Amino acid sequence: MKTLKFKLFSHKRNRYLKRTINAAGVIYNHCIALHKRYYRMWGKHLNCNKLQAHIAKLRKRNSFWQLVGSQAVQDICQRIEKAYQLFFKHNKKGVRPPGFKKVKKYKSFTLKQAGYKFLGGNRIKIGSKVYQYWNSREIEGKVKTLAIKRTPLGELFMVVVVDTTPADRSRSTTTLSVDQPEIKSTTGKIAGFDFGLKTFLTCSDGSRIESPQFFKQSLNAIKKASKQHSKKLKGSANRERARKNLVRKYEDIANQRRDWFWKLAHKLTDNFDVLCFETLNLKGMQRLWGRKISDLAFGEFLQILEWIARKKGKQVVYIDRWYPSSKTCSCCGHVLEDLDLSTREWRCPSCQSVNDRDENAAINIQAVGASTVGLGDVRRAVPAFTV
Ligand SMILES: [Zn+2]
Repeated sequence: MKTLKFKLFSHKRNRYLKRTINAAGVIYNHCIALHKRYYRMWGKHLNCNKLQAHIAKLRKRNSFWQLVGSQAVQDICQRIEKAYQLFFKHNKKGVRPPGFKKVKKYKSFTLKQAGYKFLGGNRIKIGSKVYQYWNSREIEGKVKTLAIKRTPLGELFMVVVVDTTPADRSRSTTTLSVDQPEIKSTTGKIAGFDFGLKTFLTCSDGSRIESPQFFKQSLNAIKKASKQHSKKLKGSANRERARKNLVRKYEDIANQRRDWFWKLAHKLTDNFDVLCFETLNLKGMQRLWGRKISDLAFGEFLQILEWIARKKGKQVVYIDRWYPSSKTCSCCGHVLEDLDLSTREWRCPSCQSVNDRDENAAINIQAVGASTVGLGDVRRAVPAFTV
């Protein structure tokens, strides 16, 4: 499966798609209201099939709702069902049930097999109208779903999910391993990494990658723009302009960050064959470090890194999040009772070696990662492995 994103040409005609997204939002809210009412009346969860049948009936009598294709309507019901199942499963962990959404902020609708047709070139027919998009890359494989997404700036994107497995399968007959792409040994090196606040990554070889400065600069710009926005009269054209300005600032920082992530991921995969990380515990990090964590977007970085690693035949390994990587001495394996977050350096009571907090953690992560991929216990003494 592959997800491709294309920007649509901005055109007057796009208002039909925006209206469709609005209609999808109205239907979504109606479904949520039905779920809530059903639960109040019967004390039970409204079955997804029942809801779909009911909504399909209502749609027949409502021309506004008919803007949304029947498949997209089913998709809305199924998404709500998924959100409820997630809530039933994890409500103790703080997952909330799906709630109402502002129609203006509603983002997308999704089509499966019907309701659209690629006309060749950069043209696509959705419903009864033809739209053009920036044909930035070839669509290969079978199209599974097509979604139209609206950004907060009011731009429209087309998100295409394609199934690429048939092509892969025919290729796999020639190679031996199917599921596990062979690790290419180009550097013969393995490394462990520890995420941090000021230092973005600490590597087990002692190098550090600092969080770039532009985050801070952009944050100031966001602060300013958001102040401007809140000063403007609600519902005024000035406020809308200020909102767009603010959103653009947010997109700027996200783009800068993503760009930096790609470059960093390329650099790391060029330098190492196996890269070990701790499984992210975002909730726990948030408790320790506060809101800042979302600005750092570790999860997004790991996604990009995994993608590049797969392409280059490198391996990303995650070690258990309960492993005490900071509290274990990387020299002798002694485990401390506890270690305060503010302690940047500590002396091991057993072997007397002085451990830098982050570097020590990175070395431990490397060691555990190495043993999980079957390379044995690779410690500081043996920084490189040979294949
Ligand atoms: Zn020690």
